[in-house]
Formats: sequence, structure tokens, C-alpha cells
Amino acid sequence: APPIPSRAYGVYIGRFEPPHQAHLLVMLEALERVQTLIVVIGSARSARTTKNPWTAHERQDVIEAMLAEAGADPQRLRFVHVRDFLYDEAHWLADVRAGVEAHTGGSRDVALVGHIKDESSYYLRSFPDWEFLPTHVVSPLNATDVRRAYFEDRLSDVRGMVPPAVHAFLEGFQRTPEYAELQAEFLALRSAVAPAPATRLTVGAVVSGAGQLLAVRRAERPGRGLLTLPGDEPGPQETLLACAMRAVRQQTGLDTGAVLGAVRAQAIFDAPGRSQRGRIVAYVFHFALGEDALTAQPAGNAAAWLPLSEALEHPEGWFEDEAEIVAHFLAKV
Ligand code: NAD
Repeated sequence: APPIPSRAYGVYIGRFEPPHQAHLLVMLEALERVQTLIVVIGSARSARTTKNPWTAHERQDVIEAMLAEAGADPQRLRFVHVRDFLYDEAHWLADVRAGVEAHTGGSRDVALVGHIKDESSYYLRSFPDWEFLPTHVVSPLNATDVRRAYFEDRLSDVRGMVPPAVHAFLEGFQRTPEYAELQAEFLALRSAVAPAPATRLTVGAVVSGAGQLLAVRRAERPGRGLLTLPGDEPGPQETLLACAMRAVRQQTGLDTGAVLGAVRAQAIFDAPGRSQRGRIVAYVFHFALGEDALTAQPAGNAAAWLPLSEALEHPEGWFEDEAEIVAHFLAKV
């Protein structure tokens, strides 16, 4: 039997969309160095996109299957699912810590496993009290290439990049309606992304009142069927506020008079990766209507008032980073 590692806990953070051969090797190497490996699955509870196609539960299941297949002891594995907070790094850090501590009981014998591959690995430096154990795994593999091959129906290329258990999962998922929708989205995005790296501006409106929020259902790909805020790109002669009011009027049928004068707050949402459609900066107004807000019935058939609790508790129902935008204005009201 291999020697029992002296370190108690190892933490391995990743998106694993999907887990590939290099992820597996990093995990197996970690299991030679720590007794218990805590896999932190990031980007949990977001809507399915071609960048995040699988739920955290699906990713956990397939990681467990690939590790079992490789002979790892399931008793030595733990999982934590963490949502992204693009505008609140401290919240993300606290959630990772809390999730890890739930398994370690506050032990200080915790090491962080990973590989500083580029700027996106900056977060590996955010846990100075966990000893960093860089992996020795060297591999050019990355999940973006796996997803591209997968959505281009090149399953034989995928086979060379992922362990058999992951391949089997991907084959099964390919027969679901979710796959068909994501593949259509993949193709739509490929033709939509502008060749020039122009930065676009959009305007959004969070309209709340009487414990409710005005939301619209997206009719188009990407994100067809997901909830979105009323919004649009400003016209050449339009102020951002006028644009927000026009979007509310056109997309929800709400009388603009009710909205004007109800501006409570405004904020910019500019995380570079917030949209797969290109570099899009969102300027969002919060319109806080009074208690009689519900008498202003939306007319657009895709628009509806949503109870705030429902809007906040189901981030996976929202397009792009809009669950975070809604929470920014409404989590504390
Ligand atoms: P990933 O799946 O790309 O990589 C996971 C780990 O494996 C990394 O340490 C990476 O360097 C390593 N790895 C990947 N390919 C490798 C290879 N070929 N050889 C050796 N090692 C390899 O995941 P990621 O993007 O680094 O995951 C971070 C997660 O944390 C994401 O879900 C991200 O959204 C989340 N996050 C969120 C916030 C926030 O919301 N504020 C901040 C930081 C990170």
C-alpha cells in the first residue's frame, strides 16, 4: 500500500467544464500528498452556457466517476460548490473558506493545490494561510478546447483529452435537449462575435416595488428562456436614463411616467468575462416604485412581476451576470 500522506487536507479549486485528463492527474498527484482532497467546484448555480454547460452537481458526479475509475478512494474526497461573485471578491473568498472549513473543522493543516497558468489563476495567491503546493503536472490541455471539440461534434478528439468516465458522460449528455440548445447557442455565438474587439455599452433597468421585480424572458439565443432585465443599447441621441425608460416602456409596457423620478441608484457592471457576446459594459438604473407598483401591470407578454425572494434565490434562472446585478440593488432591501 502507498504511504499515508502526512498533510491532512488539500484544496483544489476549478471550474472543471468539463474535467479533463490534466485535472485528473493533478487530483491523483494531490492524493499522494494529502489525506483528504477537497475539490472546490466554481461557477456553481449559473445558467447553462457554452462556457459553463454543466451544473456543479453534474460536474461533481463526473469527477467522482473519473476518480473511481482511476482507483482513488472515495472516502478521501470532499466537494464544495461555490457561486461566482464577479463584483464581490470578498464574498467569493468567504464562501470558499466557509465551504472548506465545513470539511476541515477549522484545521490549520490545509494546503492549496493548483497551477498558476495565467492571469486567471491569480486567486491561488488569495489564501496565504494555506501552503501552496504547485502541481508538477505539465500539460497543454485546457477545457476550452474540449468544449469546442464537443460542440463541433468532434467526439473522437474529445476522447483523447478526457478520461473515459468523462467521455461517457459527455456522450450521454449529447443526447439531451440541453445539449441541442447549447450547440445551437455555440453556433449562434460563433457567428455573432464581432471581429473587432470593440467595447459596447448597454443600459439595464431594475424596476422594483411591493416586494416584486420586473423581469423579461429572453426570446433569443444565447440564453433563450432565461430571465433578463429590461434594457437596450442607447441610441446616438439618447441619454442613458432615457434609454432605460424606453427599454422599460417597450419591453414591459409599463408607463414611463411611473418610473421617471423613481431612480434610487445606478451602477456599472464591467467584468470583462460577463458576456460571451463580446466586451459589453452594462450601466444599470434601479427604479424603486411605491407599494402600489403592482397596479402597473406589464403589457409585454414576456414581462412579469417576480417576487424578490424568487428572483434572488434562483440565480441559475438569470442571463449572464444579471442575478448579481439584481442582488447588488435588491439583496439588502
Ligand atoms: P480550471 O478548471 O481552468 O483549472 C482548475 C485548476 O487546474 C487550476 O489550478 C489550473 O491551473 C489547473 N489546470 C488546468 N489545466 C491544467 C493543465 N493543463 N495542467 C496543469 N494544471 C491545469 O479552473 P479555473 O478557471 O482556474 O477555476 C477557478 C474557479 O473559481 C472558476 O469557477 C472561477 O469562476 C472561480 N473564481 C471566482 C471568483 C469570483 O467569483 N470572484 C474569483 C476567482 C475564481
